Amino acid sequence: MSLRRKTTLYICIILVSFVLISIMVIYHESNKILQNEAERYMESQLERVNENVKLLLNNIVLETEKLSYDSKIDSYFSGKSSLEGTGIYLASLMKTMNQTQPLFMDLFLVDLNGIIVSAAMEEAIGVDVSSRAYFQKTIESNIANTSDIILSRADNTQIIITLAPTTNGNDIVIGYTGIAIYATYFSNFLDNFSIKDSSKYIIIDSFDKIVSHPNKKLISSKFDYHGYPKDEFKSIRSIVTDNGSYQVIVRNLHFNDWKVISYLKDSDIYSKSIELSYKFLYIGIVFIVIAIGLGIYAIDVISKPIVKITESINRIIEDEKRFQTNMIQHLPFDYLINSETDNDESMDSTEVSNFRKAILGFKSILEQGAKNFDLEYNQLKIYLDSLYFEIGSINNRNLDFIATLSHDIRTPLTLIKGYARGLESGDITDEAMKKKFESGIVKSSNDIENLVYNVLDFAYEVNLNSSYQMKLYEVDYVIKEIVFELKQLYENKITMEVDDFSVDSNKVLIDLMNIKRVITNLVNNSVKYTNLLDLVRIRISNSDEGIHFEIYDEGIGIKGEELSRIFELFYRTFESKDKKGYGLGLYISNQILINHEAELICNSVYGEYTSMKFFLKYKNICI
Ligand code: ADP
Repeated sequence: MSLRRKTTLYICIILVSFVLISIMVIYHESNKILQNEAERYMESQLERVNENVKLLLNNIVLETEKLSYDSKIDSYFSGKSSLEGTGIYLASLMKTMNQTQPLFMDLFLVDLNGIIVSAAMEEAIGVDVSSRAYFQKTIESNIANTSDIILSRADNTQIIITLAPTTNGNDIVIGYTGIAIYATYFSNFLDNFSIKDSSKYIIIDSFDKIVSHPNKKLISSKFDYHGYPKDEFKSIRSIVTDNGSYQVIVRNLHFNDWKVISYLKDSDIYSKSIELSYKFLYIGIVFIVIAIGLGIYAIDVISKPIVKITESINRIIEDEKRFQTNMIQHLPFDYLINSETDNDESMDSTEVSNFRKAILGFKSILEQGAKNFDLEYNQLKIYLDSLYFEIGSINNRNLDFIATLSHDIRTPLTLIKGYARGLESGDITDEAMKKKFESGIVKSSNDIENLVYNVLDFAYEVNLNSSYQMKLYEVDYVIKEIVFELKQLYENKITMEVDDFSVDSNKVLIDLMNIKRVITNLVNNSVKYTNLLDLVRIRISNSDEGIHFEIYDEGIGIKGEELSRIFELFYRTFESKDKKGYGLGLYISNQILINHEAELICNSVYGEYTSMKFFLKYKNICI
């Protein structure tokens, strides 16, 4: 569908929706207004009906009372005259009354026993009304009373009777006068107020019997309140019956508990708003037709440039897509390499060719960058992993060191405590024993002091230049000192191969005590990790540049991957864990040698041998 058609369609849909929504709103709003209006109308009509019915009933009461004062009747009840002619008199009186409104069915006289003694309607004479409620009420109240709807005992007509007492000069009741009216009269009467098929009125008596109904057949039947409970019915506003739905209002007549019920048909209320909505719909359709015409014209004028712009944009997008597809097809690297020598006519523009090259170059830079990034990322990961592992192992080494140290300090401390307690208790009286305890304390204290100095202080001091006593020594002197000390320590059990240095006048600048410490450390290790002294060999050889030391053993050896680590602080190989140590000896030795501008070199084959070498350079200058 073209854009123009689409736009027209949209505008039409909007206009039609607008008109339909407006119709609905108008219908709804007018309904509300009309319903209120209808309610008010019903209320006022009902008021009128109420008033008129009340007036009618009160009139009958007045007529009855007037009849009770009639002189002819009074003279009969006072016993002044006989009944003769009374019936004819009442009949002529009723005839006259019916001329104004044809509602009277009978005028009659009742004696004090409740027997009708005279009546306009002959059939009524002799009827006993003493059991009727209106008769009872009149006797009790001594005023006129009106009955609910009843059936005449004389001819089964539906009637309503009003009975008034007749009194003598001393206000003593001497008889009763009654007037019966046709119930159907009310229906005719109310027809004047009803609008045919649209509104109607029903009157019900205190026993809910219908007194008046547009359908006279229903008179005297029980009103069913449309299935609602009687009390709730007062507030019911909407009723659905077989003849349609109605708005209903109920009012008390304030006469014998009678009620007037007013009905107004819903369709009549809503017909007006439907009428209004139809009118609006016609106008709306005309409006839509005009609007569509105008819309088409306006769209023609407005949409032209819009359509043009949209088409252009679409074309650009299409071109862009085509260009991208071409790029993808033509841009692969091998093509570009070929294209430098290719004379393809499609590559007629050098700018395009250069642009492609630039993009490819950029692409390869990006690819290279991504590769490098990958590489660096992996390296970093490996480095971090090893760092993580390293931190973990350093931590473990520190813990091992602390555990060993604390054990070594605790042993002499326990001894000191034991000796001290012994002395303190005063139980030891033997002087020799006392001496032994005292020297035990001194020895254990020395052990702790040595431990602290050798292990802790020394590990710290070894890095300080100031703690070295560097002196220039004759090489022969140095060698003799070292050999002497080793022999003292190992009682000639270790094989020593020592060159002759006695003819040499070379000198070395060293801290002799520390160099001796290095050698002792290395020999101790060899002994410790070999167990057999005769598998340890020391070699001190002479060269033009200096002295070569090698301590060699055929012990447990060190694994290749650990060789670079054994000089680290606290580092101990797994295999050496069953031997006591702090992992300090090689660290200290190496630090001492670094301070002598020398270094410790370790060669080992795991399970076969270990060789530790270092070299001290001659310093043949006088200082
Ligand atoms: P330690 O007090 O544990 O001996 P060192 O610093 O002297 O501490 O040595 C560090 C570690 O080097 C030792 O724990 C041991 O694993 C290894 N090592 C040193 N010398 C030898 C050797 N001669 N043979 C085998 N292993 C050795």
